[in-house]
Amino acid sequence: MERHYMEEALFEADQAGLIGEVPIGAVIVHGDQIVGRGHNLREHGNDATMHAEVRAIEEACATLHSWRLEDCQLYVTIEPCLMCSGAIINSRIPVVYYGARDPKAGAVDSLYETLTDSRLNHRVTVYEGLMAKSAGERMVSFFQAARKRQKAEKKARKAAQRAERVEK
Ligand SMILES: [Zn+2]
Repeated sequence: MERHYMEEALFEADQAGLIGEVPIGAVIVHGDQIVGRGHNLREHGNDATMHAEVRAIEEACATLHSWRLEDCQLYVTIEPCLMCSGAIINSRIPVVYYGARDPKAGAVDSLYETLTDSRLNHRVTVYEGLMAKSAGERMVSFFQAARKRQKAEKKARKAAQRAERVEK
């Protein structure tokens, strides 16, 4: 069942990737129902807070008419950042499954251990590495394609500049 929900989160990640957003997706499960889903929409929303987890938490709170997501599990394709870890703690989500680590911004295992910090009164049970390969591959190919696009754009710009000089 865990794999099924992570597949749903990966589907969300693909929705982000399809429109040029960094491919990260999340779902929140209550009982056997998905009550919230989200994907990264930072660019399209022009909003730094539009991470997959935050979007999914907002939807789950609206669905359940409660800010407390005490009986829920969150599935997210990439290790949550500081902001999302904060949102997970504040919404009292007790269980988090994530796919691949994020060595640059991960706040669950990589840079910080916010979800299991004993100084906080809410602690989260964390399962890392669920379908990590699928989640990580999406990130790698997304950034490879982005670099390729940047290179091509640079080349085109240079060619245009050369053509301009010739015309003069
Ligand atoms: Zn985040």
